[in-house]
Amino acid sequence: MKAMVLNRICSLSEQTEPLKLAEMPVPTPGDKEILVKVSACGVCHTELDEIEGRTPPPKLPVILGHQIVGKVEALGKKTRKFRIGDRIGIAWINSACGKCSFCRESRENLCEDFVATGRDANGGYAEYTTVSEDFAYAIPAVFSDAEAAPLLCAGAVGYRSLRLTGLKNGQNLRLIGFGASAHLVLTVARHKYPESRVFVFSRTEGERKFAMELGACWAGDFGDVPPEKLHCAIDTTPVWRPLVDTLRHLERGGRMVINAIRKEDADKEYLLKLDYSHDLWMEKEIRSVANVTRKDVEEFLRIAAEIPIRPEIQLYGLLDANRAILELKQRKIRGAKVLNMGVTH
Ligand SMILES: [Zn+2]
Ligand SMILES: [Zn+2]
Repeated sequence: MKAMVLNRICSLSEQTEPLKLAEMPVPTPGDKEILVKVSACGVCHTELDEIEGRTPPPKLPVILGHQIVGKVEALGKKTRKFRIGDRIGIAWINSACGKCSFCRESRENLCEDFVATGRDANGGYAEYTTVSEDFAYAIPAVFSDAEAAPLLCAGAVGYRSLRLTGLKNGQNLRLIGFGASAHLVLTVARHKYPESRVFVFSRTEGERKFAMELGACWAGDFGDVPPEKLHCAIDTTPVWRPLVDTLRHLERGGRMVINAIRKEDADKEYLLKLDYSHDLWMEKEIRSVANVTRKDVEEFLRIAAEIPIRPEIQLYGLLDANRAILELKQRKIRGAKVLNMGVTH
């Protein structure tokens, strides 16, 4: 099979082709696993963090990609859940131990033995992949393969972030950064909390315009002062400045959720501007969101199908993965980038 493989950690400002095309054997599913013929795989900001070593894969080479949609091609001996030909999705959670206190409390995202798809196990930048049947999801019929892909990470983790904010209907929500995840969060927030107003902060004019089209009540640049205090915020950016700016305009008792697997160091000194009395006093909270649980993925797919969400997507061929990654790095974003195995170039 063809796969786009990461052989070594590198900086994307020096290396414009971090992934190399490789011819590999089709993997054989274990007893509880299914073999999946990949049809679409979303491109996530986490891939940049893996390539550049902020969350490095434990073993190289590895196949990246954790927003996978495909068809079941073969079944392990002890599988029961799916049939050959079923359409399924695979998300960032590839497996967890199932025994520890976190797993037993449905907080498997915090399991010490958490295995991430496309980092700790081979992912979907390839023609085939395998996964345990317990970590695969039926995809609602309303979505095309490429539409469903970004729902599996950007959507599911975005949904988890929204849940963690504790937003109540009528309260204001601030979204910082407006990439693949935030545009799905905005759509879900408008559906679940119809009386809440959503304020979007983005560095680019195109993203601000897109946010207004999707129903934000206000859109501004990072440093802009919002017209009202915000009760909750979700930060999806790799930088620090918006964190300080957001805390300053957060309502008393408000909560800011950081949905980023790693922050970059370039503007870290901005944190020194943090003023305890203005920015943290009065029970303001900061919380990160780590990984995702199967329940998040299942619930989000259900809500997304109910609305139904039509994710804005940009398609690339498998061999174009490097271009997709570079464009993501350069923030050429409108909606979500998806590798579609049917696209040739
Ligand atoms: Zn992701
Ligand atoms: Zn566990």
